[in-house]
Amino acid sequence: MKGNNCVFCNIIQGEAQAYLVYQDELVSAFLDISPINDGHVLVVPNVHAADLATLEDETAKQMFVTAKRLAAALRAALSGVEGINLLLADGQMAGQTVFHSHLHVIPRFAGDGVGFPHGNRQNPPTEAAMASICERLSERLRSIDNS
Ligand code: AMP
Ligand code: ZN
Repeated sequence: MKGNNCVFCNIIQGEAQAYLVYQDELVSAFLDISPINDGHVLVVPNVHAADLATLEDETAKQMFVTAKRLAAALRAALSGVEGINLLLADGQMAGQTVFHSHLHVIPRFAGDGVGFPHGNRQNPPTEAAMASICERLSERLRSIDNS
């Protein structure tokens, strides 16, 4: 199904231009129009899904498998690729700007200056908070798995 006025749906339908790197029955991958680094690719579901909650599991799996293959291809095809970041912004608060879910595959080069703020939190949670979060999360996950 196609989303209304969705730029990624338009690309998948061939109605908007893109540098298409890969396509199969479930997903498409094309170059990001405003790349963080050269070779920055977006992996998107062919069927419009605004967010993770509406994404079919089979398609989500194929997005990750495709990103894994793209990571290998980027390392082989572009010189100087020393790492890869995968990023998926789910929701406006997480930085999502295009509401057709997509997985960023971002090649990393030495000294590229790209920053990702992880591992440096000033006020880490207490052991009790960690245990509580873990319990609530695992319980909710079981009910989601069974739904
Ligand atoms: P996000 O902020 O995670 O929603 O990322 C949206 C990404 O889509 C940004 O990196 C944009 O540069 C990219 N983008 C937006 N329009 C296009 C387009 N027409 N073709 C390729 N990439 C696009
Ligand atoms: Zn769409």
